[in-house]
Amino acid sequence: MKAVYTLEDLRCWASSGAEPPIRIGVLGDPVAHSKSPQMHNAALQALGIPARYGRIHATAEQFSETLSLLPQLGFIGVNCTIPHKAAAMQHATRLDPHAKSLGVVNTLRVEGLDLVGYNTDGPGLERAVASELGAQLGSLRVLVLGAGGGAGRAISLQCLLSGCPSVMLVNRTLEKSEQLCAELRSRAIPRTDGPPLLGVVAWENDALGDALRQCDLVINCTSVGMREDDPSPLASGLLPRGLLIYDTIYTAHRTALMRAGDQAGARSANGLAMLLHQGALAFEIWFDREAPLAVMRAALLEAAGRA
Ligand code: NAP
Repeated sequence: MKAVYTLEDLRCWASSGAEPPIRIGVLGDPVAHSKSPQMHNAALQALGIPARYGRIHATAEQFSETLSLLPQLGFIGVNCTIPHKAAAMQHATRLDPHAKSLGVVNTLRVEGLDLVGYNTDGPGLERAVASELGAQLGSLRVLVLGAGGGAGRAISLQCLLSGCPSVMLVNRTLEKSEQLCAELRSRAIPRTDGPPLLGVVAWENDALGDALRQCDLVINCTSVGMREDDPSPLASGLLPRGLLIYDTIYTAHRTALMRAGDQAGARSANGLAMLLHQGALAFEIWFDREAPLAVMRAALLEAAGRA
């Protein structure tokens, strides 16, 4: 089995040589860093399912053709990652209602010649906050840092769908968070408990300090922290004691933001659990059976340890 397959490989798939055959995978650009194969292959092996999960590199220009080949090659489904999550929504023949609300698809299931689109990132985050921080996302006042990028958009919307009483949007480029705020307001998400408090906070110490004192959970959706020498996107002096921090970054065990949180007496977790839960939910969509969560968690931890 190759570490990464290409569109060219799919065009002559019969000679791919993978045994058991690749029936699920992840499409992205870049995709070589993805830890999803380790997690899903461990699950497939544990359940005795004769299939494998592979990485498939597809540029934005190749995405449509790559998807069109999947049904005839016997694929059960795929995950879609950067930069394909919005395009996957356009290519899905049908959409699960949650993916439709989020406007982004990260999981496709092949049904005959159809591709059905789902989003497991948002529910994966909800489960990660519960399992790692012991809190119910919908009960928390949330500040989303990086509410302008892809993950920040999906997570902000998930917070509203989950019922968070307040969602504050912060982004380095202020206009993007203002645009997202306007979009979210226009979505009119049905809520039984009245409209949530939704607003934009400037990335500036006084404004951030005030906003952080009035929130329960900060979710870091910026890419700051992916590199080992990255500083914390928030100084520890800004973080109130008892704050919860969910850092979506999973490439580091303890990010600079988590370390800043430790100094301030905040509780934090990294993005590995979100990756785990979105993967487990995708597995359940593809195979209509419960995912072996413990096996998948162990495989991810091992893969993260090796990185
Ligand atoms: P993206 O679309 O490129 O967005 C990047 C975000 O980071 C933007 O909001 C950007 O702000 C901000 N940013 C970048 N450099 C910055 C800096 N120096 N200072 C302040 N803000 C900065 O990327 P993405 O796909 O949303 O991914 C973002 C993060 O989410 C990544 O770390 C990724 O690993 C993580 N993620 C985790 C999971 C999981 O399962 N755990 C899933 C998805 C994503 P501007 O708008 O101002 O450029």
